[in-house]
Parts: sequence; structure tokens; C-alpha cells
Amino acid sequence: SAYKIGSHWWRAFDPELARRQERARKLENDMREGLRRGEFHLLYQPQVDLKTGAVRGAEALLRWDHCDAGPVSPAEFVPVAEASGFIRELGRFALFEACRQASKWPDHMTVAVNVSGIQIQDAGLLEEVQLALLESGLAPKRLHLEITESAFVEGSRAVLDLIGNIRAMGISVALDDFGTGYSSLSYMTAMPLDKLKIDQSFVKRLSTDPASLVIIQSVLSMAHGLNLRAIAEGIETREEWDILKALGCQEGQGYLFGRPMRSEDLVALAIPSDQLHQRLAG
Ligand code: C2E
Ligand code: MG
Ligand code: MG
Ligand code: MG
Repeated sequence: SAYKIGSHWWRAFDPELARRQERARKLENDMREGLRRGEFHLLYQPQVDLKTGAVRGAEALLRWDHCDAGPVSPAEFVPVAEASGFIRELGRFALFEACRQASKWPDHMTVAVNVSGIQIQDAGLLEEVQLALLESGLAPKRLHLEITESAFVEGSRAVLDLIGNIRAMGISVALDDFGTGYSSLSYMTAMPLDKLKIDQSFVKRLSTDPASLVIIQSVLSMAHGLNLRAIAEGIETREEWDILKALGCQEGQGYLFGRPMRSEDLVALAIPSDQLHQRLAG
């Protein structure tokens, strides 16, 4: 659609593209304003021990209540924030806020914070994480970071080093949405990781598609062989829980155990596992 007049290249005006760009620009402006005005907050979705169902911790998920448009989904605003670089500020907010709130939870509970591939391109992330722990007083072992597979695949030596340094602090690193990206098996061994998070698309197909059972089985045996923990996301039914438990997946997350909820509600839900055992026995 580009053409040349004289020595200049011109691009044909594409109203659809222009609308999309305009919408993204407005969204980005609104995000900046919104962050300043306190329109963003975090909800926490329980992460459970699949053997017992006991809550181990939670994943922090960003929510945006736009002043006049109402709630905007992270599926919409996160990609826009990543494209503009604003995800660095948004991600910093999520990190500090999650550490601050989790420091008030019972000591055994962990918090998992999503970190964008854009954020891990920046070596300054290490200091940010240190500061978030220092300010909140949260023990490093209670902080988990979730990084998407694509960020790793594009990862340079510097990215791998940064993640290695973060892990050396005692923070645990999980590979999010595993199975949707392009990690090769040989690549996996080079990645400094603690946990694999099996993408919900595999869990969703578990009861209808035998192939997804095979995929989950091989992911779990690979995780086991590489000494990684495994967590499955998007568990919605008792049947999915039973299958994943039988396959040896250690942890799970999904609407069956709890929707993303406010910090106070999470704490109320998270009964220590010894008390849970007593309850089950009694
Ligand atoms: P994700 O990290 O893979 O998070 C899991 C998503 O699955 C969440 O959607 C969660 O609400 C949803 N989910 C959990 N259990 C179930 C279930 O049983 N069934 C179904 N259908 N869905 C379930 P959410 O909160 O809309 O977040 C979407 C994505 O936005 C996240 O995917 C993550 O990639 C991104 N995101 C959210 N918060 C942050 C953040 O603070 N930083 C960054 N970089 N990305 C974030
Ligand atoms: Mg995640
Ligand atoms: Mg995920
Ligand atoms: Mg996902």
C-alpha cells in the first residue's frame, strides 16, 4: 500500500489502522492518568496444593477500573502497555503493591507476580525487586515471578543472567503459559527456572481431547526430569483436578479453587493446611 511520488514514499491512508492506532494512543493516555488516579488494583487468585487443595499462595492479577469506561480487561490493556513501554511503570506498581499486601498474609503464603518480557529486558529490574522486598519486608522465598515463554525464547544472555540473579536472591521463577510458545526441549535445560506453569488451553481440552492428556503427561515428566515444580492453570472441574493430581502435577489454579479476589478474601480462604487436615479428619 506504499507508493512513490517524486522522491517521497507515501502510504495509503488505512482508516482501520488509523482507528486502531488512535484507540491505542487514547488507551495509553488513560492508563497513565489512571495509574496516577488510583484506578488500578490487584486481585489475587489462589494457588493450591493439588494433593490437599490447601491454599499455598496466590497470583496477583491487575485490574483497571477506567473512570468512565468501567472495567478494562488486562487482555486488552497489557498488550497496549507492552507496545508503548508503559508496562514498566504498570509492572512496578504490581510488584510493589503485591509485596506490600502479601507481607500481611500468613507466613506460609506466597505471591506470584507477572513480569512482562519488556520488563526483563531491563537490568534495573533486579534493583526494583530488591527494593520491593526491602520496603515490604516480604521474605524473598515468598515472592514468585511469572514470566511468559515468549520472553524467554527471545531472551539474550543478559536476560538469562538477570533471571539467574533474581533466583540467587531466593525468589522463585515460573515459566507462564507453557506450551503456547516455542521453547525447544534443549532450550529448557539452559533456562534458569523453578516452575513450569501449564497453560489453561491444555487443561480446558483435557476431558475431550486425548492428545492434551499426552501433552500434559510429557510436560510433567520433563518438569520432573529437570527438577522443576509444575502448576496447572485454568482448573474448573473436579474431574480436571483429579486427572492432574493423578498425573503428579503438584499445584493448581483455577475457578474451581477460587476466582481472582481481594487480598482480605484470600486471607480468609487460606486456612493453614494442618487445620485443613484436622477438618477433613473430623
Ligand atoms: P495469566 O498470567 O496466564 O493469568 C491467568 C489468567 O487466566 C487470568 O486472567 C485469570 O483470571 C484467568 N483464569 C484463571 N483461572 C481460570 C479458569 O479456571 N478459567 C478461565 N477461563 N480463566 C481462568 P486475567 O486476570 O484476565 O489476566 C490475563 C492476562 O493478563 C494474564 O494471563 C497475564 O498475562 C496478564 N496480566 C495480568 N496482570 C498482569 C501484570 O501485573 N503484569 C503483566 N505483565 N501481565 C499481567
Ligand atoms: Mg501468570
Ligand atoms: Mg498463565
Ligand atoms: Mg495464560
